[in-house]
Amino acid sequence: MGKKFDKLIIGLNNLIRARKQRNYAPEKVMLLFSHCLQNSKCPQKIIHSLSECKRCGKCVVKDILELSERYAVKCAVASGSEMAMEKVYSNNLDAVIAIACEKELAGGIKEILPKKPIVLAIPNTRPYGPCKDCGVDPARVEQFLKKTLISH
Ligand code: SF4
Repeated sequence: MGKKFDKLIIGLNNLIRARKQRNYAPEKVMLLFSHCLQNSKCPQKIIHSLSECKRCGKCVVKDILELSERYAVKCAVASGSEMAMEKVYSNNLDAVIAIACEKELAGGIKEILPKKPIVLAIPNTRPYGPCKDCGVDPARVEQFLKKTLISH
């Protein structure tokens, strides 16, 4: 199973989920992102608590935190798939907007289907290679929040 298959799973999953599911209560929605979005030079231990982020703007974590507050959804960071699953299952969620690499996203979708919560997946960008200083377009994350999950 290669990258193309992972992309296919993510695309199909998002399509089906976006067509069928929307308008969840914000407190039942979580923005979940992988630790590789944090600037690799940042000394803050955000993996222990997101309140550690000083919101300096040197990475997209600041934008994700601000979006989670603006839309009143939960927010969490995970350093791997095991931690990600623990956050998903310990929060009694209806929907997760997950940001990670295609491999992690496809693995998470396969693990959770057909159970709750629904997973909407946004692949990260990797301008410096895998697992380091990855990115995501905050506008895309907001689009998922606005159009797919919460009516405004
Ligand atoms: S926004 Fe700044 S303080 Fe927050 S995680 Fe990124 S680099 Fe660290």
